Amino acid sequence: MISLYHKVQKIETLQKTIDKDIRAFKRHAGLDCELHCAECCRYEAIEATSIEFLPFAWHAYKLGMLDYWFDELEKGIGSNCIFSRLDNNAWGCKIYPVRGFICRLFGFSATTDKNGRPVFAACRVLKNRHPEAISNAGMYINGGGKVPVMASYYRQLAAIEPSSGTRLVPINEAIKKALETVYFNLHYRESA
Ligand code: SF4
Repeated sequence: MISLYHKVQKIETLQKTIDKDIRAFKRHAGLDCELHCAECCRYEAIEATSIEFLPFAWHAYKLGMLDYWFDELEKGIGSNCIFSRLDNNAWGCKIYPVRGFICRLFGFSATTDKNGRPVFAACRVLKNRHPEAISNAGMYINGGGKVPVMASYYRQLAAIEPSSGTRLVPINEAIKKALETVYFNLHYRESA
């Protein structure tokens, strides 16, 4: 069975692939987020898999912060992601380098239609404020330009951890499950 450490390494490799593909898409499609926009993290019904937060949980353990994040989750802070900073003076993600797949892919990836063709899933902010940029990105994709397809990365994630790689749950639940996975795995190892 693949060790937790190796799982984390494989997921981090996939994170890097996603980041590279998204960078290429942004460059070719001429699209990017507005500066200091964190509207997508404000959404209250974000869903994610627990395994995509395994690198975060692993690094939290390495930094001795497992208990800190368990406590933060226990405080039961609303339904917004616990890592989001949503006030005007402190925006953005508290764990940006180890954020989830959904956080990386949102707004710059595609779903597929029933014929397997990519359908660009643009974010609402860019659709409302920069419709011409969205339309240009659509033309780039329709012309055969490469767009990251969300399901493809989740399939690769499921290959690493078939039991939870595709199971979407509310984001704070996914974060908690990832912390528990690391905690129990290491606790078991220490007491074995
Ligand atoms: S993990 Fe970070 S990027 Fe993802 S939803 Fe939470 S605050 Fe936003």
